[in-house]
Amino acid sequence: MKIAVFGTGYVGLVAGACFADAGNHVIGVDIDTNKIKMLQEGKSPIYEPGLDDILESALAHKRIEFTTDKEKAIKEASVIFIAVGTPEGEDGSADLTHVLNVADEIATHMRDEKVIVMKSTVPVGTAEKVEALMKSKTKVKYHIVSNPEFLKEGASITDFLKPDRVVIGCTTEHARNVMGELYSPFIKANNHPILFMSNKAAELTKYAANAFLATKISFINELAQLADSVGCDVNDVKRGFTTDARINPAFFYPGVGYGGSCFPKDVKALIKTAETFDLPMDVVRGTDRVNEKQKSILPAKIKNHFKGKLQGLKFALWGLSFKPRTDDVREAPAYVIIDELLSAGASIVAYDPAAMPNTKRHFGNKIQLAEESLDALKGADALIVATEWNEFRTPDFAQLSSLMKQKIIFDGRNVYEPSKVREHGFTYYCIGRDHA
Ligand code: NAD
Repeated sequence: MKIAVFGTGYVGLVAGACFADAGNHVIGVDIDTNKIKMLQEGKSPIYEPGLDDILESALAHKRIEFTTDKEKAIKEASVIFIAVGTPEGEDGSADLTHVLNVADEIATHMRDEKVIVMKSTVPVGTAEKVEALMKSKTKVKYHIVSNPEFLKEGASITDFLKPDRVVIGCTTEHARNVMGELYSPFIKANNHPILFMSNKAAELTKYAANAFLATKISFINELAQLADSVGCDVNDVKRGFTTDARINPAFFYPGVGYGGSCFPKDVKALIKTAETFDLPMDVVRGTDRVNEKQKSILPAKIKNHFKGKLQGLKFALWGLSFKPRTDDVREAPAYVIIDELLSAGASIVAYDPAAMPNTKRHFGNKIQLAEESLDALKGADALIVATEWNEFRTPDFAQLSSLMKQKIIFDGRNVYEPSKVREHGFTYYCIGRDHA
């Protein structure tokens, strides 16, 4: 099939590369000329494990091309994916400007029947909005499909090639057949289902998934605070309650709060959607509130330890991306920690395996970036672990203590075993395990 993918970001690029890998011809379209130039030169603008190989092979076999020429892409493709950003608007609802711009372009330039697939995360009712816009602009036949994406950054190639499920909202037989054919190589890989439903149900499914995952995080984070207060280990509690066959233990990781380009904005957008129906959405509101507070937990522990006097102290910080195996720093909890410490007069030397270029663009010279993780520790008053990259998991604590000025670790991801770190003479703070 000839496919156009509008938006070559974390979702559009991975989806495009994987569709090309399955033998389709893909045209990746973006308004960002720098991104398109890099892609045309065979370089990925994002860090995503496995993406470079799949992209290289698709380019070598001429199964993928990149362009800023929207008109050409729309005319040539029979299936057009919209995978542009839907950031948080000023009032918390999803900003659909980019989505509607693309729909407008498609309506303007299409000359024959198209299947138009919404891959971006969009609120319930967006398919109807796009339909109304298209109807007012073109007489050519089209099919609007809602096909939310569930990939996880850091594992997105595997997630796309072997999805747990594919959700398709559509109303026509043609769209159903086209989408079934397009996804059949991927669902065959593990015999997982394609779930056909209405556009609205597909749109809501994506928000339900993200809000529920975010709720798991806020639930365990709130429990971690209680564990700290009562003086027990939240991990013991987690083991205790998640061995119940009805409770899946995945994703119950206490930490510095969820971040990234999806959970924070999707949780808020779901609340906004519910508001328009006068529904309070109390559970999801609670999830959001807990997460906002959680981001300040580690800075509070730090301030508490140093009795509020951070002026002149130097902190080593490991991990900048919002989670491991990505360079994505959108809504990264590490950034909240950095902002709080800088405004209290401390200095930061940070290290991250992939997110330093993005961080340099964000903070400029306000913080220092170390070339290696150990370099960040030289003369540090404390180490902060903000993202649990694998390479931070088993450090040589003797080496750490020889480099640091004070032997203090604030572990925002519960990476270490408290007793082991303390054996090495460190003062160790973590999340919900401070008394362990
Ligand atoms: P992104 O910001 O990485 O990429 C979006 C791209 O769209 C950018 O390159 C931008 O230049 C381009 N763009 C904007 N307007 C355009 C236009 N008119 N024509 C062509 N390109 C245009 O965003 P992302 O992380 O890939 O997310 C895209 C959508 O997928 C969002 O709705 C997001 O919520 C959803 N989503 C993201 C993830 C994730 O992990 N990142 C997972 C599932 C769903």
